[in-house]
Amino acid sequence: VRSSPVKLPANGSGERLFMLAFRDISEVRRIDRMRSDFVANASHELRTPLASLRGFIETIQGPAKNDLKAQERFLGIMFDQTTRMSRLVDDLLSLSRLELKSHIAPDQKVDLVPLLGHVRDSLLPLAKDVGVEIALHLPEGKAEVLGDRDELVQVFENLMENACKYGQEGKSVDVFLKNGPGEPVEVSVVDKGPGIPAEHVPRLTERFYRVSIEDSRSKKGTGLGLAIVKHILTRHRARLIVKSEVGKGTSFTVRF
Ligand code: ADP
Repeated sequence: VRSSPVKLPANGSGERLFMLAFRDISEVRRIDRMRSDFVANASHELRTPLASLRGFIETIQGPAKNDLKAQERFLGIMFDQTTRMSRLVDDLLSLSRLELKSHIAPDQKVDLVPLLGHVRDSLLPLAKDVGVEIALHLPEGKAEVLGDRDELVQVFENLMENACKYGQEGKSVDVFLKNGPGEPVEVSVVDKGPGIPAEHVPRLTERFYRVSIEDSRSKKGTGLGLAIVKHILTRHRARLIVKSEVGKGTSFTVRF
C-alpha cells in the first residue's frame, strides 16, 4: 500500500488538515504479474510448435530430401502443428476481444433450447471420433436468457467438447437444461470420465491450466477453453459450478 499525504489549506481555526489517500497497489501488481505470465505462456505455447516446424523443414531440406515416405509423414505432423497454432491464436483473440467488451452487458434474448441442439449437432463428428454419445435432456417450450448468442454457443461448445474429450469412451455425455418456475435457468454438462482431483478444481479456469501432462500430450486443446468460458459467464452474470468425483465423472453447471 502506498500512502500519499496531501497538504490542505489551513481552516478558519488556524489548524492545518492533512488528508491521507490510500491506494491498494497489490491488486495492480497482481494484474501486472498475471499479464506478463500470460504473455510468457502464450509465447512458449507458440514457440514449441514453431521450433518443431523448423526442425521438420530442415530435415525435409536435408537428410530426408529424397525420402518421399518420410516427407509425407513429416508434412502430416506439420499440418497438425499449424492447426494447433491456429487454434491457439483464435483462443487468444477471443480472450482479448472479451476483455475489450467486459464492461458491456450482453442484452439479446437467447433461447437455450435450439442453441443447445445446434451445439450438439456441431460436435457430432468429434463425439463419433471419440465414441461418445451426447444426450440432450430439454424441457418443453423455451428457456430464454439475456445474453450474447455467439458467446453462449462458445461456452456450451467448450463444455461439451471437454466432456467428450476427457469423458469415458463408449459412455454418454448428458446435457440437462432446467427452467423451473421461479428458479434460475441452469445447464449442466455431465460426463462419466475419470473425474478431476479436488485440488485442481479451483484452478481450472486459469489460462493455460491443464490437469495433467498426459492431457496436454494426448488431448487436443490450448488450456484456454475454460478461461474463455469464465470470462463470458462473468459478462453474463452467470456462475460456473464444477462438481467432480474421481473415477465417476464431472459436471459443469452454468447457472444464469
Ligand atoms: P483444454 O484446451 O486443455 O481442453 P480447458 O481450459 O478447456 O483447456 O480445460 C483445462 C483442463 O481442465 C483440461 O486440460 C483438462 O485437464 C481439464 N478438464 C476440463 N474438462 C474436463 C472434464 N470434463 N473432465 C476431466 N478433466 C477436464
